[in-house]
Amino acid sequence: MKILVLNSGSSSLKFQLFEMPQATVLVKGLAERIGEKTSRFVANDFEVNEPIATHKDALHLLTDYLLDSKQPILKDTSEIAAVGHRVVHGGNTFVQPTVITGQVKDKIRELFSLAPLHNPANLTGIETAEEIFSNAKQIAVFDTAFHQSIPIENHKYAIPNNFYEAGIRKYGFHGISHQYVSREANKLLGRKDIKLITLHLGNGASATAVLNGKSFDTTMGFGPMNGLIMGTRSGDIDQSIIFYLLEKLNYSSADIQNILNKQSGMKALAGSNDLRDIETAANQGDKRAQLALIMYAGTIKKYIGNFTAQMNGLDALIFTAGIGENSDVVRDLATKNLSFLGIEIDPNKNKNPKKYQGDITGKNSKVKIFIIPTNEEKEIASQVYQLIY
Ligand code: AMP
Repeated sequence: MKILVLNSGSSSLKFQLFEMPQATVLVKGLAERIGEKTSRFVANDFEVNEPIATHKDALHLLTDYLLDSKQPILKDTSEIAAVGHRVVHGGNTFVQPTVITGQVKDKIRELFSLAPLHNPANLTGIETAEEIFSNAKQIAVFDTAFHQSIPIENHKYAIPNNFYEAGIRKYGFHGISHQYVSREANKLLGRKDIKLITLHLGNGASATAVLNGKSFDTTMGFGPMNGLIMGTRSGDIDQSIIFYLLEKLNYSSADIQNILNKQSGMKALAGSNDLRDIETAANQGDKRAQLALIMYAGTIKKYIGNFTAQMNGLDALIFTAGIGENSDVVRDLATKNLSFLGIEIDPNKNKNPKKYQGDITGKNSKVKIFIIPTNEEKEIASQVYQLIY
């Protein structure tokens, strides 16, 4: 059974075609800078650089490739049984992968206000795929769904209740990634009844406490800005700063959004949001870069402590995404001086994790420490497969 997974952004479309249930990747690629003159389309080793006006044009390029490449991957697009769509915000409504109907689309539209950058693009992807793959089932997989298990004491804010009733609560994000790596960790440990912390450290970053296979708490909240320090997002700050910027320094609400989303985090601290540049600068003695790394790792440590205390223990700590998978420096700093919690990394294994299948647990560590590469597309494909098979 062939399942196509689409991750639609406002000007991009990432895709992977899987043969299920083996989850063999038949095609992987993306269209980027859609709507601009400098668009690019890549599918496996095929690449075109020509203007792509819309998401529909991008999907046409994909179908042309699937049907007409040197060794056609499909005889007919009807071979695609289902299209799985990553949808960022499912609000309180969606806790499971969901077959897309008119009502589901209306609900995704209602949630535009909660995810203004993502849900509109996700809906464009859905509507385009409905036209082009009209025989396929269209399934939405929500990034917030995994976190719907977070208990009320961890998802409610201490603000007047009418706001809670209006849907202002912690939703959490990166759920597809946290779910995937936590399940992989359960497989590695051969058990599900365990206490995990999953650290998704990419350009966006979040940590999740996973108790007995379910999300128990997470660092992102109502929106995707708080919690850990990120590439360009501030992470936790004191709310009073926003009012000070607004009322005393006369920034507009749009300015503040831009500052906290795009001009903060590692970019503000070290002048770059690319951790590789920051590590190089820190190695060359750049004090800003050194401080940025310490602060970045420091917020991770705070949440390791927080979540371990909440779960009354920890069985495994999981690093994933661009930084989690690749930066031994961050992994080292984020776990330093945590031996009192039973967390100790093996420095050698941390430097050559591939040699140890990602198990970087130190010899005296009570807590297992794993690097598990995330694979959101595979997770979406397997959730879709389970729903329709
Ligand atoms: P992601 O959003 O998961 O693609 O992660 C992007 C982040 O991963 C960027 O900050 C990159 O600088 C970082 N990254 C990717 N490769 C490496 C590497 N080899 N060492 C350190 N950081 C890396």
